[in-house]
Amino acid sequence: MRELLVRAKDGKYAVAAANVFTGRTVEACFAAASEMQAPVIIACTPYVQMEELAMAVRLYEKKYPEVTAALHLDHGKEYEDVQRALRCGFTSVMLDKSTLPYEENVKAVREAVRAAHAVGVTVEAELGHVGKGAEYEETRDSGLTRKEEAAGFVKETGVDCLAVAVGTSHGVYRGKPLLNFELLSELSREVSVPLVLHGGSNTGEEKLKKAITLGIQKINLSTDLSTEYLIGVRKFEEENDPLFDNDGKLIYTGNRTVYANQALAAGAEAYKHILKTYMKTFGSEGKALE
Ligand SMILES: [Zn+2]
Repeated sequence: MRELLVRAKDGKYAVAAANVFTGRTVEACFAAASEMQAPVIIACTPYVQMEELAMAVRLYEKKYPEVTAALHLDHGKEYEDVQRALRCGFTSVMLDKSTLPYEENVKAVREAVRAAHAVGVTVEAELGHVGKGAEYEETRDSGLTRKEEAAGFVKETGVDCLAVAVGTSHGVYRGKPLLNFELLSELSREVSVPLVLHGGSNTGEEKLKKAITLGIQKINLSTDLSTEYLIGVRKFEEENDPLFDNDGKLIYTGNRTVYANQALAAGAEAYKHILKTYMKTFGSEGKALE
């Protein structure tokens, strides 16, 4: 992943990090990257089926040899999550100790860096804390990254990229997203490694574009992708094989397995579509490695 992000920094664009949750969404990432000739970071948290998804990545790497993809552990909570990811062949890991005091964050991340770098794996950590959208109005400013800590954190831990808190949030925002662009500019001046923006979903195209011009090279996407996936599944079901009649009674048809399969494919198609839109916004179209 480090290589993808260093290239993005030179080229002044960002790479989409897409959270996956089924084999079909893994294939959607590869298909989107192939169609857009864009690099992609396939991300999964320790709470989904990491081992199975890593195997799916290996399968689709063979089907889409033209794609440049990294497999990234998103929000590893404990050192054990990092170990699990290394064992599954992830090429990048995040250890998120952003809720701990500075010194403890440094200590934990340094240990993960030692283990990951020994096998050539990239490490991401978070300084400051990107909170939840539902608490956005109350917590927006309290977790912002402190610019005087950033350069020291990178130096002390040896991380390859740094997730910063500059006003985005995870999930759906309560209130309007308000990014602190001044802080972001200062951080990108202070820190030499690529910067990561968590909470890309429903932040808005213009704000994301501006964040890229100010030094963001990886943008995490989760909520918007899974929402589009679910809408795609529901639409297919409503248009092709409604489960219930107007009275709410289950309708019996003989071929629901076929429909179920097609409905999930429709969800994956919707996921791919919005991911491609983001790749275009991020300027990563046509930037796949030769
Ligand atoms: Zn995140």
